[in-house]
Amino acid sequence: MKLSENAVKVLEKRYLEKDENGNLLEDCEGMFRRVAKAIASADAAYTDEKGLAVIEHEFYNMMANLEFLPNSPTLMNAGRPLGQLSACFVLPVEDTMEGIFESIKNAALIHKSGGGTGFSFSRLRAKGSAVNSTGGVASGPVSFMKVFNAATEAVKQGGTRRGANMGILRIDHPDIMEFISCKSDNSEITNFNLSVGITEDFMRAVEHNLEYELLDPRTKKPVAKLNAREVFDIIVEMAWENGEPGIIFLDRLNRDNVTPKLGEIESTNPCGEQPLLPYEACNLGSINLYNMMDDAHKGLDFEKLEYTVRKAVRFLDNVIEVNKYPLPEIDRMTRGTRKIGLGVMGWADTLCALGVAYNSQAAIDLADKVMSFINDTAQKASQNLAELKGVFPFYEDSIYAQKGIKMRNATTTTIAPTGTLSLIAGVSSGIEPIFAISYIRNVMDNSELVEVNPVFKEAALSGNFYSDELMKKIARVGTVKNMNEVPTNVQEIFVTAHDVLPEWHVKMQAAFQRHTDNAVSKTVNLSHDATTDDVREVFTLAYKTQCKGVTIYRDGSRDLQVLNIGKVK
Ligand code: ADP
Repeated sequence: MKLSENAVKVLEKRYLEKDENGNLLEDCEGMFRRVAKAIASADAAYTDEKGLAVIEHEFYNMMANLEFLPNSPTLMNAGRPLGQLSACFVLPVEDTMEGIFESIKNAALIHKSGGGTGFSFSRLRAKGSAVNSTGGVASGPVSFMKVFNAATEAVKQGGTRRGANMGILRIDHPDIMEFISCKSDNSEITNFNLSVGITEDFMRAVEHNLEYELLDPRTKKPVAKLNAREVFDIIVEMAWENGEPGIIFLDRLNRDNVTPKLGEIESTNPCGEQPLLPYEACNLGSINLYNMMDDAHKGLDFEKLEYTVRKAVRFLDNVIEVNKYPLPEIDRMTRGTRKIGLGVMGWADTLCALGVAYNSQAAIDLADKVMSFINDTAQKASQNLAELKGVFPFYEDSIYAQKGIKMRNATTTTIAPTGTLSLIAGVSSGIEPIFAISYIRNVMDNSELVEVNPVFKEAALSGNFYSDELMKKIARVGTVKNMNEVPTNVQEIFVTAHDVLPEWHVKMQAAFQRHTDNAVSKTVNLSHDATTDDVREVFTLAYKTQCKGVTIYRDGSRDLQVLNIGKVK
């Protein structure tokens, strides 16, 4: 297997099975065998022993060749007693004390198993509203979010990974202003990503500089008015200051809600790529596009891609079957809609290898071509599975029933961030540009190591301009733009997240969104000296190009950054 040293380290630390003394009970190969066996077992009812062995073998190969990887909880927990395999959950938060604390308890159970939770706090009554049973006043959504945050903090220690949450509040909630700026000091609500739930009505009011109404969540009656443009500007200002809140377009999530009879979509999972109904969970998986190229690295091997998509859909559909859900309600909803989220990783590395600049129309065209192919193939695969195994149980309540299209899964595609998966596969994450061509990693004994993007290293070696000195210099500067030692055509192709202008980030997100059932995880990177006008433009462009949401990050705006460019002694 071609796992890097870093990948092995990550897997050993958190993914491989250990005994109570921390001794490893399996190696990386053993992990993929365990997962393949557990996931293939869902096919036992549809094939004989020999057929099952073939399926298991195919699943194993896809993972061991780093062509497809399921989300982290599946790798960690499949074939083990915990058995919770999904990364994404959405829980309802009812406007009662019982409801709020029920939700906190359920979130704790999910975090313990490695899943992330999203919540809409929009149903909670506003700060200062009456509480009938006590005669007191309500403390409002933001104060309860702090309780959710504290619970997440406490569960952190014992779980498989630190819990992650998404908190959403509708733009027309009376406490919206408090919500927008509640992370400004960055010390509270640290375990949450925040997004403002924006409506089309609100965006029209922004466009025409009108007032809009804030509604009492219980009565839906207007209680106040705000100027839409002023509120939008404050969101922009806060995002400029520290990257939060992001925005999501609620009406778009619901326009693409394939089972509207089952309820409204109020929230997504923590990183924003998976809109879900309350109590729904979803398992994700990503195809490593870098390993889908033809042998000569001249283009993508669409035959191989088709094969991999088909197998991946079968794999993810099986995950639903063998998954152990943390709550009966989640079990019912998740098995009812059978949503899966197949996406990609290694996109930027693939573009570099093919000699296409991320910030070019050619890259956008290729994104359209690749993702529409994946989406069509995934849908066909789900239809074939429906013939073999039946449609999803809530099918009659779906738009597919009206269209007469039999589907095994209510949704098939999602673009995940692939934070850890991409590290395991050794490629660029999700559809993000390369973060750094080379960078300095602090290793455990306090020494520093220069890490070089493998695609760049190959280009530098074959172009005869590789040297350790140059790699250090690139790490220091953070880009190869205008670097004389690097040929101009290589400079143009190897663009980093900071070289790519914000509008190209958004265009790329929009291209993938056009062919994705669910949503796309993407951070639009801005340089440190970007202005609030730049942020406003990004938000507006994301709105105009039919993105489902957008998150920005201005370099250096938060104190703690995981990776730093330009830091070398
Ligand atoms: P991975 O690469 O580990 O499979 P991703 O970075 O693709 O995960 O994230 C996918 C989803 O997994 C996130 O949107 C979120 O729902 C969940 N997730 C990610 N990190 C965490 C975490 N630390 N705790 C809980 N859930 C997480």
